[in-house]
Amino acid sequence: MTFQELKALDEQYVMQTYGRFQVGIASGKGATLTGVDGDTYIDFASGIGVNSVGYGNPKWIAAITEQAQKLGHISNLYYSEPYVRLAERLCTRTGMACAFFANGGGEANEGLIKLARKYSYDKYGRGRSTIITLLNSFHGRTITTLQATGQEVFHQYFFPFTEGFRYAEANSIPALQEQAGDDVCAVMMELVQGEGGVMPLDYDYVQQVKALCEANDWLLLIDEVQTGVGRTGSMFCFQQYDIQPDAMTFAKGIAGGLPMAGILASEKCRKVLTPGTHATTFGGNPIAAAAGLAVQDILSDEELEHVKEKGAYLRAQIENLGSPAVSGTRGMGLMVGICLNEGYVNSELAGELIANGLLVLTAGQNVIRLLPPLTISYEELNQGIAILRKVLCK
Ligand SMILES: *Cc1c(COP(=O)(O)O)cnc(C)c1O
Repeated sequence: MTFQELKALDEQYVMQTYGRFQVGIASGKGATLTGVDGDTYIDFASGIGVNSVGYGNPKWIAAITEQAQKLGHISNLYYSEPYVRLAERLCTRTGMACAFFANGGGEANEGLIKLARKYSYDKYGRGRSTIITLLNSFHGRTITTLQATGQEVFHQYFFPFTEGFRYAEANSIPALQEQAGDDVCAVMMELVQGEGGVMPLDYDYVQQVKALCEANDWLLLIDEVQTGVGRTGSMFCFQQYDIQPDAMTFAKGIAGGLPMAGILASEKCRKVLTPGTHATTFGGNPIAAAAGLAVQDILSDEELEHVKEKGAYLRAQIENLGSPAVSGTRGMGLMVGICLNEGYVNSELAGELIANGLLVLTAGQNVIRLLPPLTISYEELNQGIAILRKVLCK
């Protein structure tokens, strides 16, 4: 099927909810993709941070095909090995106590919000259900997580939204204290705001938020849907902030391309969600969990060191381009934002980069966001940097 045929079918039969780039992808290997018309692309997007171990990774393929031959799905009414092993691996790697498996980031965040409200309800009763989130955050597209998202543009059309969220400016303890009150049960945040523009929170701020949460018995909820699973150079980003969340979510990169997400809870929150209070049919699917285990194997501690090195290399190369469009870079590990100068438009440059063979993402006000596969080779990084030079330095 040619790109034009593909696009025509999409427009006729698929709900037009996405502003897609003008590219159809047929296959991939490593961090290199082949389009439906035969063009090749270097991938600095990973399908929005999902393809954490690259395309066609042999260990990932072996894990899911072996599992598919054994057992493709079984309900959570029964025990099965892949999900228990993945839960064990995630807990031992993070110091968290237990996992709940879901299917997407927004859904995992819904569960996180339920956990926080029930923790507080069990201990204090009704009326202590407000969660403070940060301005410029992004937490998902469900009716509740849209409202948890601290950006006005997301609070439209779908009224009534779920009540019980207040917003504070990031990196300001006074702003957070202004939102405090007897009705608060938790603070929820991304440590590097992803959709909001690749904005890492200040280390000291996060330390102080943790202390404030402990002092008030607010749960500290960390949304690691984008920052998690090695993206920032540690298994989870919180490990670089020297805090332990009370509960956190993961999704995007967890299963290297299959739909999977979940919650990790601390010992304190282990018993909050009980039988009958939370569930999902597909949660902990054996094939997704087997993929998750393969991702854990591939993203060894040594590999995560390479993520840090590759991220530093990529940012240095971009800053050394001397591009008139670029004002600087920010981020952590292989979560990189290219900040643009006035007069340059991120979506236009992204379109040009893609036309020249480099897939990138946009974020925030005027940022080009890069989330390459974590296993990308230096050769592929250099090919991508050459395309950045061509487009951003002309
Ligand atoms: C992508 C994202 C979500 C939503 O995840 P979905 O899988 O699209 O529901 C939530 N939080 C953050 C931080 C994200 O980056």
